Amino acid sequence: MSETDICIIGAGIMGSATAYYLSKITNKQIILVDQYNVANDYCSSNDINRVFRYAYGKDEFYTRLAIQSRKLWQQLEQETNLQLLIPSDLLLVQGTDKEWNMFNEESHKTLQKIGLETEDLERKQLEKRYPQFNAERAFTDPYAGILLASKALLTFASEAKKHGVKLIENMRATRITIQNDRPTIEDSNGNRIIAKRLLVTAGPWSNNFIRKNLVEMTPTRQQLLYFNPQDTQLYAPPRFPVFFADQFYGIPAAGTDAVKVSHMGRDTPTDPETAERSIDQEEVDACRELLRRFIPKLSNARLAMSKVCLYDMTRDKDFVLGHDPEESDILYGYGFSGHGFKFAPLIGRVLAQLVLGNEPGIDISRFNPDRNPTAR
Ligand SMILES: Cc1cc2nc3c(=O)[nH]c(=O)nc-3n(C[C@H](O)[C@H](O)[C@H](O)COP(=O)(O)OP(=O)(O)OC[C@H]3O[C@@H](n4cnc5c(N)ncnc54)[C@H](O)[C@@H]3O)c2cc1C
Repeated sequence: MSETDICIIGAGIMGSATAYYLSKITNKQIILVDQYNVANDYCSSNDINRVFRYAYGKDEFYTRLAIQSRKLWQQLEQETNLQLLIPSDLLLVQGTDKEWNMFNEESHKTLQKIGLETEDLERKQLEKRYPQFNAERAFTDPYAGILLASKALLTFASEAKKHGVKLIENMRATRITIQNDRPTIEDSNGNRIIAKRLLVTAGPWSNNFIRKNLVEMTPTRQQLLYFNPQDTQLYAPPRFPVFFADQFYGIPAAGTDAVKVSHMGRDTPTDPETAERSIDQEEVDACRELLRRFIPKLSNARLAMSKVCLYDMTRDKDFVLGHDPEESDILYGYGFSGHGFKFAPLIGRVLAQLVLGNEPGIDISRFNPDRNPTAR
């Protein structure tokens, strides 16, 4: 049995970022626990790259969070002398999907509305700027970029360790109990950690710890495909952008020599324990078809790598951040709904403040753990 001031279940990007910010602002004892190793193959945070963007349709709230988060990524880069965010345009390509065309156009309008740069490119301009693309029209988000995801995760975890956080790998918390008024986690071997404050950042496994009446979360299975172009330079930043087109997105060859292509979010529920971790041929065909339409020269590129990864979806796609309404020493950070990575430093900083009983520094009412997710 061990005792600590703060225990965090889950060393994905959210748990690791929180541990990092805590370690910078408090001398309290912090234990970060993971059922596997940091950057294990199953967690949602461990992949070569993730999209950073300001474009959020008409949802200015997330655009403003992204503006704040970008500054924190830059601070982390300066502090560690590592590049984690590679700047890139996000090209919002107009296709045939009305909903996504609307998202693109509204993103453009929101950026304009808050005085940020954004362009509306007609075919000729697009051909000149990004000749790889075939489309009538596209908008740009010039504040976007590619986050080197695994590198960022390992950076947060190792910086947290450097600042005194104790990392316990291969300990699977099987339940949370309250003993002598203290949240306590146990594993199946009877090991226990008693904490003054407990934070659950268990990603798609969070349902194992969520009490009744809190916002529900559904893990869903997503497939990621990496296509290896013959001329990598033509598909690397800054010559090739991050792109959104008709429910799919792509990430240039950054952190790897292949272009990542994926659907924005398949909604088939899955169980993180039994999820099928290899991809389906239909998904390969769907990605190639998308490429044939919008980036024809990439459509026959070799499939170099693939990965299955889980989203932790809430119904309203908003995150869950805050105290358990009944046990205020237990806190949650889950439900990042396939778009949390870009906000990791901001979320880590917010959760660190909440764990210490401080004001979060931003308005998090939208992320309330006992909100009604169908109300918005
Ligand atoms: C395919 C895919 C693409 C994405 N693309 C983007 C993108 O482009 N941009 C963006 O901003 N976001 C993106 N996201 C979302 C982002 O990656 C996630 O929101 C983020 O990684 C979630 O991090 P997390 O720390 O909450 O969860 P995880 O990374 O899953 O970490 C949870 C950790 O908890 C551990 N754990 C679970 N249960 C236990 C237990 N009982 N005991 C101990 N440890 C436990 C797990 O082993 C795991 O390491 C994407 C997500 C996916 C899946």
